[in-house]
Formats: sequence, structure tokens, C-alpha cells
Amino acid sequence: MNQALQPDKIKRLLVRGTNWVGDSVMVLPALKQVRQEFSQAHITLLVLPWVSGICEEADCIDQILIYDRERHHRGIRGRARLIQTLRRSHFEAALLFQNAFEAALLAKLARIPIRAGYRRDGRGWLLTHPVSIDLRISPLHQTYYYLDLVDQLLDRPRVALGASRTPIQDAAKVPPLPDISLQVSFPRKQAARNRLRAEGIDPHRKLIGVNPGAAFGSAKRWLSDRYAELLDRLIEQQGANVVVFGAPRELGIAESIRSLMRHPATLLTGKTELCELIALIACCDLFITNDSGPMHLAAALQVPTVAIFGPTNEIATGPLSPIAVVLNKKVECSPCLLRECPIDHRCMTRITVDEVYQHASRLLSA
Ligand code: SF4
Repeated sequence: MNQALQPDKIKRLLVRGTNWVGDSVMVLPALKQVRQEFSQAHITLLVLPWVSGICEEADCIDQILIYDRERHHRGIRGRARLIQTLRRSHFEAALLFQNAFEAALLAKLARIPIRAGYRRDGRGWLLTHPVSIDLRISPLHQTYYYLDLVDQLLDRPRVALGASRTPIQDAAKVPPLPDISLQVSFPRKQAARNRLRAEGIDPHRKLIGVNPGAAFGSAKRWLSDRYAELLDRLIEQQGANVVVFGAPRELGIAESIRSLMRHPATLLTGKTELCELIALIACCDLFITNDSGPMHLAAALQVPTVAIFGPTNEIATGPLSPIAVVLNKKVECSPCLLRECPIDHRCMTRITVDEVYQHASRLLSA
């Protein structure tokens, strides 16, 4: 890398955000760090439409620019349109949290003079400030991956090198966890409460949000019949309301759970924009979820969470929250990071309804 970035010389900064909901939450501590360091700069966040809601009310950026590569910026003409928009904005620097070659190419074609990011995907030659990944941070939580990029670029003390190797378990003993907190304004939360009331949710009962899907693949999903049994028990024994969330393509999973239940559950699967989903999760007393984007949202909103893990590693991508419980059986083949299980899915089948219920009821009464 050349010399460190000089924040006081940069007045217009473009930040390329990440593409997935979970990553967009895990990048928040780094984004907050950028805001602090570039306090005088106008910061524009370039993101895909489906994650833009995460930063809609964040004070760490000044503007959101949507990269709509499915429609408005589709194909060569669409990309040219985006490049024109970026050129007209006269950014002095681009900071790329997204790792793809294309992110660097767009910044270069937009004639942004300073282009900084990790040297990945064969794009080092397009960057003026390429940063090599420090292998010492690879066992850490992914938030440190983004934080370390900022620290290296600004030649700051590197928080990742002083971090615990097990940030979740050692939360009480080691330096504070990176701040992933997300705020929801009163009007948005009020609108979410109204929506819940309109869906027939009794506001005087505890509200449990459930996310039984996982965009990554079926390997990450706990079993539908167990979700159904768990939710029935929570309704019967805790008197709770249950709302099932998820993306439109996960409607089949939600319906199959509801069809197996004895009690009614409200399905909002596929019926919420990300912005509204965030506000709805913020209204929950408890969130039960597979390893997924909504799991990270619940952690960022400080909602007590039970997170069910199997093929993935909670040290790297677990919910960064002291009020989250991770259930992981750590079978011999885990973490395999596969989308579909090639064997008998033992990492998930060994997680029982009883143990999820125990953690859920403890968090509910805490
Ligand atoms: S291979 Fe093992 S860790 Fe991976 S999904 Fe199957 S049971 Fe789970």
C-alpha cells in the first residue's frame, strides 16, 4: 500500500457497502469508524437495493446511492449510467468494503482518484491503496475483517490484533465488542406496532419473532417440524404471540411450519421490506433464528436472540450481542460451510426442541 489515507484531505467519500444483510450489519462498526475519522467529509454509501434499509436512519453516512443492477443499472448501459452518476458526484476517494473486482472497476471508470480496499479478486492493480488480508485476523469475528481494513488504511492502532479470538464467549472479559448497534426511530417503531396490531397481534402479550429460513441454503436450516413444536410450546406455556419472518422465497418453509402447528401463528414471510422488518424485529421480546441476515439484525437491535448454528462457525459470523445464545452441536464435520448437507444433517438434527425451548424461556423471563 502507498501512504495512509489522509481523512482531512478528503471531502467527498464514496463507500461501497456489502451485498448481504448479515455482512451489511457486520460492516457497521467499520462504517462508524469511517464516520469518526472522516468527520468533515460527505459520505455516500453505494449499496444494492435490498440492503439499503439497514443504513436508512444511520448517522454514519450522509447519503445512500442505490446500485440497482437488476433494473436501472442492468447491463452495459446501466453500468455506464451508474458510472456517469459517480463521475458527476466528484468523489475524491472510494473505500470498498465489497470485495469484488467490479467494485474496483466501477470506481476506476468513475475516475475516483483514490481507490482503497482489500487486494482480492484480482483487482489489486485497480486500487491506489490495496490492502492485504492479515491472516492473523482470519479466526476472528468478521466485524474485525472490516475494521482492520480501515485501521490499515488509516495507519491506526489495529483493534483486530488486540481482539479476543473468541469474542462471543469472552464478551465479559475482553475489550468491548465492536458496536454493531442499529437504531430505529420512534415513528418507524410506532408504524411497526400498528402493523402488528393490524395483523391481529395482541400488544399485551410477549412477542416472539422467528426466522426459520436461511438464504444461503438448506444446510443452515433447523427442521420445520421442530420449529412447529417449539412455537406451539411457547404459545401454550409462555402465552406468547408468534410472528414468522423471512424472504418471499421462504414462504413455503413458513407455511409448512404453520401447517404443522396446533396454534395459530402470524406469517409475515415475504410481506415486509427490509426497513419495516428491522422495525418489526425491534418490537420483539425474543428472536429465534437460524444463522441468517435477520439474526444479525436482531443482535444489532439488542433483541434477546436464540441462534441455531450447524454448518457455519459462530466465532466468525455469530450474533455479536451479549444477550444472544448460540446453539451449536459442533459435530465432527462442522463447520463445513456447505449449502446442502451431503450426509444426515446431524448438526441440526441433534439440536432438540427442549434445549431451544429452555434457552428461549430463560431469555423471555430475563
Ligand atoms: S456436513 Fe456436517 S456440518 Fe455440514 S451440514 Fe452436514 S451435518 Fe452439518
